[in-house]
Amino acid sequence: MPIAPVIKEPEALITWAEEQHRGGHTIGVVPTMGYLHEGHVSLVRRAKAECARVVASIFVNPTQFGPKEDLARYPRDLGGDLAKLSAAGVDLVFVPEKEAMYPAGFDTYVVPGEIASTLCGASRPGHFRGVATVVLMLLRMARADRAYFGEKDFQQLAVIRRMAKDLWLGVDVIGCPIVREPDGLAMSSRNVYLSPRERAQAVCLSQALAAVANRVAAGERHAEALRALMRTMIEAADTARVDYVEVVDALTLRPITTLDRDALAAVAVFFGKTRLIDNRQLHI
Ligand code: AMP
Repeated sequence: MPIAPVIKEPEALITWAEEQHRGGHTIGVVPTMGYLHEGHVSLVRRAKAECARVVASIFVNPTQFGPKEDLARYPRDLGGDLAKLSAAGVDLVFVPEKEAMYPAGFDTYVVPGEIASTLCGASRPGHFRGVATVVLMLLRMARADRAYFGEKDFQQLAVIRRMAKDLWLGVDVIGCPIVREPDGLAMSSRNVYLSPRERAQAVCLSQALAAVANRVAAGERHAEALRALMRTMIEAADTARVDYVEVVDALTLRPITTLDRDALAAVAVFFGKTRLIDNRQLHI
């Protein structure tokens, strides 16, 4: 299997992308931080189905990590990633150095508003500022027509959608379903950090979300009862420490009292030092 070409320089990506547009080809972009799994590959497949050319990026973006977070130990496997992306049919892989994305003198950031103020935005100050900034750069460098993001990071998807609309990026932002392990755990590059005991207990997240969906299907409309249910199920695992369990409006991501519109159940939980997130949409 031929390995997809790798580009490290933004200028080279721009040249390639403009050439593709001159040839009449649409460009789909899949931003990632690497250490790829089936969730990432599902985004590439969707992009392949909808775009003439697909660019995946691999960049562990320092500006979206807090000072006490896992930037230094974030898992990496460039060889494995290139094999997976090539097998999935990407046309180009963009793997910039930190200095290429943030050269000396870099001084401009995108600051998302309300949409980034709840959930992970509340627990991880500055996180979505880093995300929005790097995604804007990547989409511009790749001259993206479409961009693909997983619903696993539901708030990230909402922040990027808002940015694309507010700043007139002219990019279609496409959300893709969460890909899960056979037992229900949402795939994540960070799952590799889990000890066997933590890994076994982490299944409580998807189980708690499924229990919430069942309660809603049975008629429960009180958000607080649903939060309590999730907390009880998750705290039964002795390695789990809840960051948040929330039920929010699916559009604004603000907490709600009553399920009278489309909602989202969302959780962030530490297993040991590893923070995992998951969510489930609640349609009534
Ligand atoms: P990351 O490498 O974690 O920054 O993720 C890159 C992209 O893959 C983001 O759009 C994520 O939402 C998406 N992604 C990560 N895990 C999953 C998953 N289990 N299912 C679907 N998409 C995912």
